[in-house]
Parts: sequence; C-alpha cells; structure tokens
Amino acid sequence: MRTLNRAVALAFAVCLFALLAPGGVGRTQSRPGVASGIDTTGLDRGVKPCEDFYRFANGGWIAKNAIPADASSWGTPQVMRDRNLEQLHTILEAAVKSKAAKGTNEQKIGDYYYSVMDTAAQDSAGLKPLAPWFKRIDEVNDAKTLQSAFAYLATYNVDSPFGVGSRQDLKNSRLVIADVSQSGISMPDRDYYLKDDDKSKTIREQYVKHVAKNFALMGDDAAKADADAKIVIDIETRLARVSLGRIEQRNPMSSYHPMTAEERKALTPHLDWEAYLQDCGLRDVAALNIGQPTFFKEVDAMIVDTPLANWKTYLRWRVVNYASGTLGTAFAQEYFDFNNRTLTGAKEQPPLWKRAVSATSFRLGEAVGQVYVKRYFPPIAKQQIKEIIANLKAALRDRIQQLDWMSEPTRKQALAKLDAIAEKIGYPDKWTDYSKLEIDRGSYTLNFLRVQHWSLERDLEKISKPVDHDEWLASPQTINAGYVPFRNEIIFPAAILQPPLFDPAADAALNYGCVGAIIGHELTHGFDDQGGQFDAEGNFKRWWTPEDYGKFQARTQCIENEYNAFALDDGTHVKGKLVKGEATADLGGLKIAWLAYQKSLAGKPRPADIDGFTPEQRFFLGFAQAWKATATPQAELLQTNTDPHPLPRFRLNGTVANMPEFFKAFACGEADKMVHTKDRCEIW
Ligand SMILES: [Zn+2]
Repeated sequence: MRTLNRAVALAFAVCLFALLAPGGVGRTQSRPGVASGIDTTGLDRGVKPCEDFYRFANGGWIAKNAIPADASSWGTPQVMRDRNLEQLHTILEAAVKSKAAKGTNEQKIGDYYYSVMDTAAQDSAGLKPLAPWFKRIDEVNDAKTLQSAFAYLATYNVDSPFGVGSRQDLKNSRLVIADVSQSGISMPDRDYYLKDDDKSKTIREQYVKHVAKNFALMGDDAAKADADAKIVIDIETRLARVSLGRIEQRNPMSSYHPMTAEERKALTPHLDWEAYLQDCGLRDVAALNIGQPTFFKEVDAMIVDTPLANWKTYLRWRVVNYASGTLGTAFAQEYFDFNNRTLTGAKEQPPLWKRAVSATSFRLGEAVGQVYVKRYFPPIAKQQIKEIIANLKAALRDRIQQLDWMSEPTRKQALAKLDAIAEKIGYPDKWTDYSKLEIDRGSYTLNFLRVQHWSLERDLEKISKPVDHDEWLASPQTINAGYVPFRNEIIFPAAILQPPLFDPAADAALNYGCVGAIIGHELTHGFDDQGGQFDAEGNFKRWWTPEDYGKFQARTQCIENEYNAFALDDGTHVKGKLVKGEATADLGGLKIAWLAYQKSLAGKPRPADIDGFTPEQRFFLGFAQAWKATATPQAELLQTNTDPHPLPRFRLNGTVANMPEFFKAFACGEADKMVHTKDRCEIW
C-alpha cells in the first residue's frame, strides 16, 4: 500500500514485534495457582543461559518446529498471524453470506473477499480487465502523453517510474504537502540490481527469466519476451542506480526537498510538473516535495534518451507485475515463484483462503477492523494497557531525570516530549468512510484497482489541509506496534494486544517482559536517532544540544559495534549502522519495562518462584520466548540486507548481554559469553 508506505516510510517504526507466547503456541497451561506462562518444553536445558540465552530459552521449541512449506520463517509473529487470519476468516465468511445491503461496509468486505476467492473468474478473465490501462499505455506517442501515462498509473498506485502522494511537512507538522518519491523498481531494493557478488548475480539472472516469463504469459513469443525483459532490466537498473539506499533513507532530510514551480522546472526541465499534477487531479500546488532530486534528474534524462517503445514495454510490465495476484493462476504462481520462492525461500503458496483474507483485510483495513474489534477486543483490554503504558512512561521519566550524561536543557525538552506523546490503543475513535468506494462480486482485478484509486485519491485530498490527528496509520487487525515521530504518537493496534502476548490473568513478570518491552521500545523511539530529530509537536527540529547528541551517538556507536560482530552462517555480517536504531530501542525498551515491573511490585510481597524460576528470570524468559523464530537462509539474508530490525536471535542476545539485571537474575559470571563487561552498552 503505497499511500501508507509513503506516510510511514521515513518514520513509523514498523516494529515486527512479535510477541511472545506465554504458554507456547496454541497451548494453555492449566495448573493450580498462577501459571508462569513460560513454555518449559521450549527450553533447551543443555545450554547454559549465560552462554547462549536465545538457545536456552528457545532451543527446545526450535528443535520441534520446522518451517511450514508455505512460509519462509516461523515463530511467534507467524503463530499470532495464523490465529488472526482464522478470526478474520470467520468475519469474512459471515460477510459473504450476509446478503448485506449494497453500499454497506459488510457488502464491500464480503464481495471483495468473494472476488479474491473466485479463481475460476480470474482465470477466465486473465488480462482482459487491464484493457483500459494497456490502452492508455498504447496511446503514448510523445513525451507529453508519456508523462500523462505516468500520472494515470500513479493514481492507481502503480508507481512508474515514481509515485505521488501526500506527506506531512517535516518542518511544519500541522500541514500536509504534495510529494513525489523514487520508486519504479520491481525487486525489493536497489542493491539487488547493483551488487556484484555471486548471490546477487544469480538472483538477477532469475529475475530476468521471471520478467520474460511474464511477457510470454502476456502473449510475446520467446525471442520478444527475452528482448522485453532486457528493456525492463535496463530501465529499472538505471532507476536503482540513482535511488537512495536504506541507510540514507533513515535520514528524513534526505527525502525532503520542497520546491516551487520555478525550482522544479529548473531541476527537471523535461518533466512537466504542472501537467503531471493536473493529471493527478491536483491544482495550485505551491510546494511540491521532490523526494530525491538526483533520482528525478535521471528520470528527466531518461524521458529524453529512452525510446518511447521501451517506456511502453516497461509500463506494461509494471501494471502486470502490480496486479499479478489478481490475474489468474499462471500469473499468481509466477509472482510467487520469484518473489517468495526465490527471494525468501518459501516452498509453496499459502492456501487460497489465507491469501484472500490477507488481501481483503489489507485493502479494506478499517471496514474489516471495525468488526474485528467488536468481536476480539474487549474494552477492559484497552483500559489495562493504558495502565501499563502509564507505568512505562513513569519509568522512562525516572530514567531521563537520572541520566548523568544528559544536560539540563536537553532533559527539559525530553521530559516535555515524553508528556506530549499521544497514545493510539486498539482502534480509531473515528472510522474511515468507505461510501465512495465501489466493490462488487465481479472482477478481482477491477476491485483491486478501484481500491488503489480510492485510497490514492483520499491521500491526495489531504494536501494543503491540516493534519488529521484522528487518522490511524495501521488497521486494528495489524499485528504490530509503532512510534510515529512526525506525530509524536505510539500505536498499539488491537491485534497485538491479544493473549497470549498480553493477558490480564497472566503472571505480571511475563506481561512486562513481553508487551512491556514492546511499549518501552516504541517509547524510546521518541528520543533516539529518529525521534530525536522531531520535537514534541512532530516538527523536524533537533531538540538535543549538540554536545548531548554527540554523547548519545557515541553511546549508540557501542551498539553498532556490537551488532557488526554478529554474522549469519554464510559469513554475512549484520549491518550495525542499519540496525542500531532498532537495537537501541530494544535495549532501552527492556530496561524501561524492567523498571516499570519493579514499580508495579512496590509495596507488595515478593512474588513466589514458579516452575523453578524467580520473577526476575520469568521477566527475561518472557522476553526471550517472544523472540523464538526459525527462518530459511534466504529469508535471513533478505532481512539482514534490508531490514533495520536485526534477526530475533541477535536482538535477544544482543540486548540482554548489556543488562546487569539479567546477569544477576541468572547468576552469570564475568567470563560468561552473555556478559558484556568493558564493552557493555547503556543508553537509557
Ligand atoms: Zn522499533
């Protein structure tokens, strides 16, 4: 969903926080008294906790859990996702049978789901529903009609070679401005086009074959399919070469370049921005943010030097690639073969119903979410999470007040910012209005493109208006959590606040080690390398004094060094610079959760040992078992190359190795592997 991506890409810390399962997957422990919630069968007692805490906590579970054939990784998030899918499945099957009145949300979610399930209709329609989009591309006969085709496709979220949308003004957090951003490549990252190691070269060869196969499915003979694939690779490689990389994109200013009509004309003389914006339905756009000027200069050059026939080939590929999941079995299978089998190591597609539920829930987020929270998120859960968040905030406030390396002016700003953090818990107070969206039981392709068009138009309508602070950047059924720096808010959708991650009846040590650590992680994002650049109102404004920020950076350098030393089995090293923001939040989050847990015990008798573990040990074991995971080598490599979140085993061991509270809980000695002494990192 490009709209969400753009709003969120810079900053919404999509923290694949998967949670923990007290009691293990799908299993409840019934025993007299309070259950520890620790999955004791998931432990590997042959490994010492002070030698490798991840293996100690999860080795038993890993030995018993193979990766399912339709997945590239398996662990707590996937287990939660499966339950989530079953709940949503119930909702959507009921909507299909409900005979709801035309125009209601229930009719729309039921019909969308129906059209995804109707693979016979997709197979017989094939490419036919795309005829209007192909016609638009066929009509390109000069630079003007080419750019008009760019705009037409962009309004369906087909970013080729770039996307349009709205974004909050970085320097005026109350205003929404128009934005165009780099895009237009079809592999997940520019590195796939540019790196010269053997693995990257092999993937590229497979990609060329994949594109050629698509052209063959579109009707090309073999020679033309190969030639067309080469045209696509050439254009995408040029775009990749001038695209910003992942690490550069973590600096919000790298993509912030608002320009007046004169400035944009001077930068890209062959791109007619005024005509483009009008074609997108935008009038009188004073400041347009040109996300990545270098990228757009190259597009400008390509408009002049790339033959129109090549552009048309590229655009046809982009439309088909974008809609391939809707175009029938052959296209969907080919898409899976490259994007999932080759890139992530998955062996087979998930069953159709799972794909249909995911697609409907993702495209019609709040229409599905409204029913989801009624069924699966009782009001009491919201109230209790508010109390836990209050404890976490109080603990973070204590830490900020005590930090000996932070000066008073920075401390004052930090405390003001902490007090201003908004909380979005469970679901929105004001739901999205779907009345202008048409969905029926006909073509899945058309339903899909109508949703894209509707969501892009909604996005563009925000331009030049004040920011809507009631809007949610994630649906309630999203299993995730986040901090949004440009809004100074934390988001905890209903789906992440579910048993077994969060259970009011569970041992408090577990709840704090799990959901508490997640909340702490998100809160500290408000103060780190990302959040430290945004003030209490969400404006891009560094509120640290330069000296303090220098000290903060020096401390996170410790984390960067620590993670640089982690390596995959094939020798690929973790990119410390890429992951240090998330790894710093992990350490801060667990520390704050620990302090909040201690606060919650104040004035009460010390909790008893359960299952042979002290409350302190249960806190860390809860955190550890939240990170149980296995993944294919391909998926591990993909995550290591592209994701700011380190692999679970690294983020777990990397975090607790810096916590004296952990050493004490498990009586670790200085010589133990899990104990960092001189090189111990501490930030919060
Ligand atoms: Zn995070």
